[in-house]
Amino acid sequence: MEHYDAAVIGFGTAGRALGAALADAGQKVAVVERSDAMFGGACVNNACIPTKALVQSARLSAAEGGSIIQQEQRYEAAVERMDRMRAKARERNYRSLADRDTVSIVMGHASFSGPRQLVVAADGGKRRISADRMFIDSGSVPRLPSIPGIDSPRVYVSSSLIEVRTLPRQLIIVGGGFVGLEFASMYADFGAQVTVLQHGPSVLEDEDEQTSSAVRASLEERDIEIICNAEVERIDDEHDRVLVHARINGQDGERDAGTRRELLLPAHAVLIAIGRTPNTDDLNLEAAGIARSEHGGIVVDEHLRTSAPNVWAMGDCTGGMQFTYVAYDDFRIVRDDVLGDGARTTENRGAIPRCTFVHPPFARIGMTAREAHDAGFSVRTATLPSKSISQASILQEETGLMKAVVDARSDLVLGMDLFCEDAQELVNLVKIVMDARMPATALRDAVFTHPSMTEAFNNLFAALGDPS
Ligand SMILES: Cc1cc2nc3c(=O)[nH]c(=O)nc-3n(C[C@H](O)[C@H](O)[C@H](O)COP(=O)(O)OP(=O)(O)OC[C@H]3O[C@@H](n4cnc5c(N)ncnc54)[C@H](O)[C@@H]3O)c2cc1C
Repeated sequence: MEHYDAAVIGFGTAGRALGAALADAGQKVAVVERSDAMFGGACVNNACIPTKALVQSARLSAAEGGSIIQQEQRYEAAVERMDRMRAKARERNYRSLADRDTVSIVMGHASFSGPRQLVVAADGGKRRISADRMFIDSGSVPRLPSIPGIDSPRVYVSSSLIEVRTLPRQLIIVGGGFVGLEFASMYADFGAQVTVLQHGPSVLEDEDEQTSSAVRASLEERDIEIICNAEVERIDDEHDRVLVHARINGQDGERDAGTRRELLLPAHAVLIAIGRTPNTDDLNLEAAGIARSEHGGIVVDEHLRTSAPNVWAMGDCTGGMQFTYVAYDDFRIVRDDVLGDGARTTENRGAIPRCTFVHPPFARIGMTAREAHDAGFSVRTATLPSKSISQASILQEETGLMKAVVDARSDLVLGMDLFCEDAQELVNLVKIVMDARMPATALRDAVFTHPSMTEAFNNLFAALGDPS
């Protein structure tokens, strides 16, 4: 049995950062990773960075236009550019641990064999590892529906679809959430004919109705077909494509699909994007007394301590919000608990912004008007269409809107929807305002650069009228 001061399962966002911090504090650390294509985790290798590189290439491709052959060539070039970017990022991540004297990178699949004891299985056999402290950063895996044909080679998840070297001319996306719509927007920009099949009555189901309708309308204007209340029943392989069989439920579905109750849709590729679950099934957590929730997430307290002493969990595997910056903040919380004063917790990290990179991007923070109302706030809202913002006109992207949700009693900003150019940046400013508990009038009255998207906050918050 090899013994370490600390062992980390997973070379992802949180695991890499923590491994480095512990080594810098003089500890002997083992970081266990099962794939040499995953140094740096999902963000670097098959999620945030590669997909956003493709989104950017897709936008440029759409702006250039041209024949489908030219679009296909640009898609191939975009995938190669993505490959180069992530290869560099992976190497940088690898080196950031490999170059530290007290870090051992242990390749193989880790599972618990007892309290703070691991078995790491690799082609070369098994290694047994124990440590004074253990940290789990095992990420998440895509959820797959159990329908006939799901194992077709033309059915993909996000990480496998971006490996496809030729543009799928007809793409069906099952799932109308953040990932599904981001891919719909991107592949449509590359020139694919895209259909989104959404199980529920609307896309972006948890979002504000006005904003999600605006996002949907903008995608439909770009010829992306969106069919709600659709249930995929079967996928059949056919020569060079598949046939997706779906059933339409309820009247909303009829509105989307005309009079059709049964759909038969051909496609070169099908993307399943119905959500992700914590990757905890094969860790043998029971052997170490580590509890899981009913949804599979590792149960943690506000310091990210698990139910077993001296074992922490970070990132997607806890079943919390699935974002790289949340995983990174989880690292900061654990570092603070282990090496600092434990002051930083999941309770005091403030509002968490998020963004889906359709275009314009759609970012959101805090509560929707409905959520705020249900939580007992006296809610005031203001909406500003992008077409009334000079900078949006300059950027030739007048689609979209900004919507603010404010507490009438305290004048605090409770939430914000930003479906507009630069939304992924603007939302971070709103986070600071919310965390600092600044009043909405601060955004109404601040002096901002012109022309800019930020200056639109003056008009948006002025539309609320004076606080009562
Ligand atoms: C298509 C897509 C786009 C996304 N875009 C964004 C975005 O734009 N912005 C954003 O913030 N978030 C985005 N996300 C989410 C983000 O990628 C994740 O939330 C983040 O990468 C999670 O990091 P993590 O540290 O929890 O785990 P990961 O980065 O997934 O790391 C887990 C690591 O553990 C390894 N591992 C797992 N089990 C074992 C085991 N038993 N033994 C050894 N090793 C193991 C894995 O191989 C992996 O390297 C996106 C996700 C997807 C799917």
